[in-house]
Amino acid sequence: MKLKIAIQKSGRLYDDSVKLLKDCGIDLKNGVNKLRTESDNFPMEIYFLRDDDIPQYVEDAVADIGIVGENVLYENCKQVDIVEHLGFGKCRLSVAVGRGEQYTDVTYLQGKRIATTYPTLVRQFLAKNKVEADIHEISGSVEIAPGIGLANAIVDLVSSGSTLFMNGLKEVETVLQSQAVLVRNKNLSDEQQTILDKFLFRIRAVKRARNTKYILLNAPNDKLKDIIALLPGMKSPTVLPLAEAGWSSVHSVLNENDFWDIIERLKDAGAQGILVVPIEKMII
Ligand code: ATP
Ligand code: ZN
Repeated sequence: MKLKIAIQKSGRLYDDSVKLLKDCGIDLKNGVNKLRTESDNFPMEIYFLRDDDIPQYVEDAVADIGIVGENVLYENCKQVDIVEHLGFGKCRLSVAVGRGEQYTDVTYLQGKRIATTYPTLVRQFLAKNKVEADIHEISGSVEIAPGIGLANAIVDLVSSGSTLFMNGLKEVETVLQSQAVLVRNKNLSDEQQTILDKFLFRIRAVKRARNTKYILLNAPNDKLKDIIALLPGMKSPTVLPLAEAGWSSVHSVLNENDFWDIIERLKDAGAQGILVVPIEKMII
């Protein structure tokens, strides 16, 4: 008996998914075609699929478990269980409008045309905010829609915001904060569940053991929101006013794996005087 896991074939979740398996001590056989492989030292079979297909495959028990972004999972509304948040693939689904627009609140969107690849999540967001707008579903390059007159606003995934910036857009609302999650078929056998429990035990140990650093930085107050959004894993970092008016000191913890990437983005977002210090003990 082997547990079948579906992971993204290539793309933003691929490297971290493979690394998670590796860090859990699950070696993958090399040289097999990239549709399916298995492990020599753990009862697991690995399927490489498009991320959009993973929830359906897990619901249908073609795969027993899968790794997928919450954005894809919630958009597809499939019947699977989330068993663990994995802490990578972090991004947010956001509303963006032209940089020159006077945006005050969601009522701006009333009667407007919104381009997105996430119609279900956008519909829910609009209903929750009691706004009626025309959702225009497109399959890619959503960020160019306002520039070519196809839409007044977009809802798309954002991590650094640089794509929005390059297209003359600004982020105005967050629809969903997303990260990769481990999902499971609802009807696993006892034997499958036992293997999953072993895997989960390892995942949790890996997550705890991954090096965490303490970060301190100075931020202009008008950039605080962007900077805080880049800091992973912490719902609310410590923010203290600096003696110099208009500036704050932000303290948080950073996962070492994301470290260089995030430091660069923090700098781009306006952070200064970044200090990174090791944490000796972390009591959880
Ligand atoms: P596939 O070929 O598997 O359909 P894709 O092009 O749909 O791939 P990717 O761009 O590789 O998907 O993104 C996969 C997932 O990575 C997203 O669904 C999301 O959960 C996550 N992600 C993290 N950051 C970002 C980002 N900045 N932009 C898009 N997706 C991101
Ligand atoms: Zn996809």
